[in-house]
Amino acid sequence: MDRQTRIPLSVPSFVGREAEYLQECVESGWVAARGPFVERFEALFAAIHEQQSAVSVASGTAALHTAIADLGIGAGDEVVVPTLTFIASVNPVRYVGATPVFVDADPDTYTLDVGAIEAAVGPRTRAIVVVHLYGQPVDMDPVLDIAARHGLPVIEDATEALGARYRGRACGTIGDVGCFSFNGNKLITSGGGGMLLARSADRLEHLRFLTLQGRDPDDLEYLHSEVGFNYTLSNVQAAVGLAQLEGLEERLTRKRELATRYLGGLAGVPGLTPFRQPDWADGSFWLNAVLVDEEYGRSRDETIAALSAAGIDSRPFFMPIHLLPPYREFATGPFPVSERLHREAVLLPSSPALTDADQDRVIDVLRDRR
Ligand SMILES: *Cc1c(COP(=O)(O)O)cnc(C)c1O
Repeated sequence: MDRQTRIPLSVPSFVGREAEYLQECVESGWVAARGPFVERFEALFAAIHEQQSAVSVASGTAALHTAIADLGIGAGDEVVVPTLTFIASVNPVRYVGATPVFVDADPDTYTLDVGAIEAAVGPRTRAIVVVHLYGQPVDMDPVLDIAARHGLPVIEDATEALGARYRGRACGTIGDVGCFSFNGNKLITSGGGGMLLARSADRLEHLRFLTLQGRDPDDLEYLHSEVGFNYTLSNVQAAVGLAQLEGLEERLTRKRELATRYLGGLAGVPGLTPFRQPDWADGSFWLNAVLVDEEYGRSRDETIAALSAAGIDSRPFFMPIHLLPPYREFATGPFPVSERLHREAVLLPSSPALTDADQDRVIDVLRDRR
């Protein structure tokens, strides 16, 4: 199967004004930090989320690190995190020397089991990080309830959930801080980058300050009143990000169509469970998933191999973080749901540019179990 006809898992599409905006960067000479596209990108991102402002950053990981640092979390502190996520949700906890306390996954949403958060909260807990995994919102009301009772801030890792909504509210605007990513395989890309939203305007300004080396605003001299980071987004990245963001609605519409077509096309196959979102969720379906159990007759790896033989890229879920070498010492499990989902889940092609015909090829391979 040549590269032309191979169906990728998820690739960005450049169908907007990316080239035009990049040309503008070069012609104006404004390629580096800040710049007009940075402002426009932040303004449109904020407007889409019905926020006053947004702070762009170098990556989703940088957004999460800045959010943790802003809270003054450090050694001896604990942060509640899901174990079934990408490692960048958890690494920032270690960057500041704090301890992750893992929570298992929910078997239906694959996001963290909100019923298990309370047991993970202790006297040293300083924050709760929730991850809207694969574009599916976390059941936020119980999370906010637990957070309020314990006086804890909630950080939303919305890096996979741009455009997703929970009971009508945009993911990333529900907790205290929302973190987004625009790396190469996310719903929109800036060729690397991220964004921060915060409920409090003061917090958002402090987040901005931290991304700018902790340098005092409007200061002519080099006065840095805190240890900050060089986490800004360049004008070139913002130019690409802005052009992509302008096409967000079309991308989301196609993502949701693909999800509906997978659900219909894969119904009624014994042992094969396509993802079905709860009625309170309006996910972005960054990636679509199916679970395969014994009844299906093909293991996860056999399913991935069968798809691959037909020229189709697919992938397992993230390895639960408590199983990874840097985090085994923090594995206070058991985490049976995360481990089962990791054993059974296959992520399916979900690019906005995926055609119906190509998606039908994926569905046919999954339905044909010989
Ligand atoms: C992509 C991702 C990140 C990190 O974003 P980058 O921009 O790649 O640094 C963090 N958390 C999750 C869940 C992600 O999928």
